Amino acid sequence: MIYHSTRNEKEKADSKEAVLTGLCRDGGLFVSDALMDIKLDLRELMGLSYEGTAKRILSLLLNDYSTEEISDAVSRAYGNTFSDAAVTPLTPIGKDWLLELYHGPTCAFKDVALQMLPQLMSKALSGSEKKILIVTATSGDTGKAALEGFKDVENIGIAVFYPHRKVSDIQYLQMATQEGENVAVCAIEGNFDDAQTAVKKLFSSDINKDLAKRGIFLSSANSINIGRLVPQIVYYFEAYKALVKKGAISLYDEVDFCVPTGNFGDVLAGYYAKLMGLPVGKLIVASNANNVLTDFLSKGVYDRNREFKKTISPSMDILISSNLERMLYYMSGGDTELISELMRELSDTGSYEISSDMLSRIREVFDSGCADDSETREAIREAYRETGRLIDPHTAVGYKVMKEKKRPDIPCVLLSTASPFKFCHDVWEALSGEDASKGGAEPPMASTDEKDGFYYMDRLSEKTGEKAPLALSRLREKPVIRRDVVAINDMPSYVLREAMENIRF
Ligand SMILES: *Cc1c(COP(=O)(O)O)cnc(C)c1O
Repeated sequence: MIYHSTRNEKEKADSKEAVLTGLCRDGGLFVSDALMDIKLDLRELMGLSYEGTAKRILSLLLNDYSTEEISDAVSRAYGNTFSDAAVTPLTPIGKDWLLELYHGPTCAFKDVALQMLPQLMSKALSGSEKKILIVTATSGDTGKAALEGFKDVENIGIAVFYPHRKVSDIQYLQMATQEGENVAVCAIEGNFDDAQTAVKKLFSSDINKDLAKRGIFLSSANSINIGRLVPQIVYYFEAYKALVKKGAISLYDEVDFCVPTGNFGDVLAGYYAKLMGLPVGKLIVASNANNVLTDFLSKGVYDRNREFKKTISPSMDILISSNLERMLYYMSGGDTELISELMRELSDTGSYEISSDMLSRIREVFDSGCADDSETREAIREAYRETGRLIDPHTAVGYKVMKEKKRPDIPCVLLSTASPFKFCHDVWEALSGEDASKGGAEPPMASTDEKDGFYYMDRLSEKTGEKAPLALSRLREKPVIRRDVVAINDMPSYVLREAMENIRF
């Protein structure tokens, strides 16, 4: 399994190198042509557990890891970190299916990938003297998932920066109570963009040299890393197996998936599963009001020149879906020249257009749709009213699009990407809207004191009889142990000091 850049076949790496470097030097993403030759035997997979399926898929796609390394990585990542024995259980939502990807330590789907990536990085480093320091800026969610994944992993440290007083109460507590000997968590005086820009600068700054002298190298845990992508393929196979076991389909029947999408990582993993032999019919790409992908998949024009909208599904507020480049690579039959041309146009002009031929090939597999915030709220209400299921705003975007695009007689699985209790306030407001319209007696929203982020968690539990996941409700009792706040300009010296003095690699 040799990986090379989507933009140049000559830039090659084996899977360990690709996991350690993340992005190619030419700006492209690592892909492997061998992916199209792999066909998994579904019958054989039926007898495997989640961990078994994960080992099978990882050892095929990351084949310079030894069987022992894969096996150890899988049991560390999924052995006892997810609160459901199935890891990603499949449950009914009306006549369709919900693939619950949110039972990990931070209650969002990024846990599935971020529990695994650190293990793969650590194993790729073993035997060398090198240490890696992951540095990430977060608007709230990804940083916490990365902290949980990298916590106490050998040879690696992690520093996470978030905007001071600009994350939700729950997100703040998730980070301020973070345990681990190898982690630094710090608020910065500025907004998320400031933090992200500062982190990017750090990668080309002088502190690199100081750290390198001590054998420490900076890296990121970006969602384009194959170490994040490959673990996501697993749950598509697991969802399919669950449908067979429930008798909802027979082995080899077609199934559609609807995926709430931002950076195109999650849905790309579904496409990889299809390439590897899973009988996937359509992959329905669901976007929020930042509907660049809906336009692209219907018209063939990718155009990021539009207003960026802040929505109630913030993890999908993205105008450049990086992982799309990989889908284009495979759909173009591996045309690296075409991909580098399109990506050059994207970076120069903010847009590109593909041929009608390529668009129709893509549309054979991918369908798309979108939901703005008011449609998302309506979908939360509708799902609850009609199926009794409480879903988060990201999943709700998918729910609305699934209802619109679903094919009759083909089962559809909606990927549920976060626990509704991660977004209590918005979910509560959406549900209350229904009662208001019925003239129901709900307490007035404006009177609530938001100083305590648990207020809406309690209201939501009261209203629905569902309990918040322990990972969130337990935050009430956890002591705040991370109080660092720095100015933007002091970030480099903060990183240097933490790396030299406090982080235990
Ligand atoms: C990251 C995220 C998404 C989008 O996934 P992509 O792989 O970026 O397409 C959707 N929902 C939630 C809750 C997320 O955290």
